[in-house]
Amino acid sequence: MRPTARLFTASVLALIAGPAISQTALSDADVMAIHDRLLTIDSHVDIGSGYGTKRLDPGVINDAQVDLPSMRIGGLDAGFFVVYTPQGALTEEGYAGAALAAEEGYRGILRMLRANPHQIGLATTADEVEALNADGKLVALIGIENAYPLGSTPEEVAEAMTLWANRGATYVSLTHFGHNQFGGSSNPSSARGEGEDPGLTELGRALIESLNRNGVMVDVSHVGPQTTADAIAASRVPVIASHSTVAAVHDNPRGLTDAQLEAIRDSGGVAQITAFRSYIAELDPQVVAATGILRDRLGLNSGADFRAASPETLAEYRREIARIRETFEDVTLAQYLDHVDHAVQVAGIDHVGLSGDFDGGGGVAGWDNAADSPNVTAALLERGYSVEDLAKIWGGNLLRVLREVQAHTTQ
Ligand SMILES: [Zn+2]
Repeated sequence: MRPTARLFTASVLALIAGPAISQTALSDADVMAIHDRLLTIDSHVDIGSGYGTKRLDPGVINDAQVDLPSMRIGGLDAGFFVVYTPQGALTEEGYAGAALAAEEGYRGILRMLRANPHQIGLATTADEVEALNADGKLVALIGIENAYPLGSTPEEVAEAMTLWANRGATYVSLTHFGHNQFGGSSNPSSARGEGEDPGLTELGRALIESLNRNGVMVDVSHVGPQTTADAIAASRVPVIASHSTVAAVHDNPRGLTDAQLEAIRDSGGVAQITAFRSYIAELDPQVVAATGILRDRLGLNSGADFRAASPETLAEYRREIARIRETFEDVTLAQYLDHVDHAVQVAGIDHVGLSGDFDGGGGVAGWDNAADSPNVTAALLERGYSVEDLAKIWGGNLLRVLREVQAHTTQ
């Protein structure tokens, strides 16, 4: 959010002037003043089914973790809204269904933009992000999670990428849960009997080439280890992980290894560390058990179940989950920031960013919706990060990468 007042207290001015000052004297107002000066970006915001309809109106405060008023309240300036497609079979029918799912996701983002033209605008470049922000508007960018809907031949992929780049998509995650026509997933599908990540396919190489040509960032979140290495090697420009955690802090398939963090750094890219409970820490077994019982009772045992559920069922689910998290030990903002700290130690302050994975399963106690975002700034200041550091990890690094990727298109 653009600051409307620049009446900083002495402690804030001291903090802005120099790094690593003891922050014990900072009041909430001081933190908010610093937070408001930052251009803050969440690089992965999922959208619920029926986004921008009566079912789910992002223009008002609602049950979702991100809506436009909550972004304003929390000084969260920009989000990559995600066109997500669940992985299905690699058949003509599967591809056709995937294309339809992606269209519906895109339509949802368009509905949000068209219904709220004074609140939020679409940015397709880093300059547009900054211009909208300077204009006092919230910023939407478009990310594509899972390349599955982008075609099964090099010609189809080239055509689809031109279309999506023209629509303003700025990153594509190559895979989701389960391998696809482009490469392997960090989470192979046991239902489809998939083995280890086979690596980037020939079509995957064509996709990377097409992404580079169109100035769209290659995203390796959800991507298997061999395909990640192959994609970084194949890309002529820096790559990102839009929403991943750190394996050294909590070993899990969605965690980046130190070698992967270094490879992303060496590409010039950025790892956007995500606040997803089960990727951050081992969940309290009592939480797992209680959540399982709740999901069984409400018939919410898969992603498809969630997408098909009524608003009333989803509201009940959210209420009960909140109760479970209050009753048992929850994963905290401090645990999330341990992942951020480690990523910064390994990759450096110029190669780390933040993402909530909100409305896609993300959130921790302390950063569980857009309105909580100043808590992240407060906690990072407490850990000794300077305002300059915060500007980098809250968005500066990601915009640098976007600029570089878009500067090297061959169109
Ligand atoms: Zn995801």
